[in-house]
Amino acid sequence: MITIALSKGRIFEETLPLLAAAGITPLEDPESSRKLILPTNRDDVRLIIVRASDVPTYVQNGAADIGVAGKDVLNEHGGMGLYQPLDLNIARCRMMVAVRNDFDYESAVKQGARLRVATKYVTAARDHFASKGVHIDLIKLYGSMELAPLVGLSDVIVDLVSSGGTLRANDLKAVEHISDVSSRLVVNQAALKLKRAAIGPVLEAISQAIVQ
Ligand code: ADP
Ligand code: MG
Repeated sequence: MITIALSKGRIFEETLPLLAAAGITPLEDPESSRKLILPTNRDDVRLIIVRASDVPTYVQNGAADIGVAGKDVLNEHGGMGLYQPLDLNIARCRMMVAVRNDFDYESAVKQGARLRVATKYVTAARDHFASKGVHIDLIKLYGSMELAPLVGLSDVIVDLVSSGGTLRANDLKAVEHISDVSSRLVVNQAALKLKRAAIGPVLEAISQAIVQ
């Protein structure tokens, strides 16, 4: 049995065509099904639906053989014990620093002010501001980062942005680009050795189907 860990939403939807190229089709839709283990057209392949940030944990521990996780998530997790053979070039977005429209970020940084940074991505935020020599107080959040500067919880946020629509809707502006983010395939290293006959062709088919 091959177990593939995916998160709902964007990653699931954009992974579907890649799985189809490997001859794998889920028999249920995770958006309507309440099942967390989804059978596929192949008796020897199943999907498990987990929180995006939990994908590396399932694969690292061998509870899933393969997973799809954003670079943002892998960077925070550290990627220990994970083989990362393919950038799938899906769920593309950018890790950005954003502030309120009326916040003068350049001056705050120039003056050496201590910035309060709210984010889910504490490793990315710490690394980014350390490389700029900017001192920060980190405020760890689990979602809706856009709210933090609006209610005075933080000066800046570090968050993922694609269209910028959410920033605009909340009177925020992006002021720095930290990194480009897309999702990668992650594979359990032991599973790759022990199940190479089954996993190898799946990786090969997916790699052929990646759209650059
Ligand atoms: P969760 O709600 O489970 O915390 P998200 O739904 O925010 O996670 O995102 C899941 C993954 O999708 C992220 O790890 C990231 O790689 C990707 N992602 C997040 N935001 C965007 C975006 N705006 N555009 C494209 N991909 C995104
Ligand atoms: Mg979400």
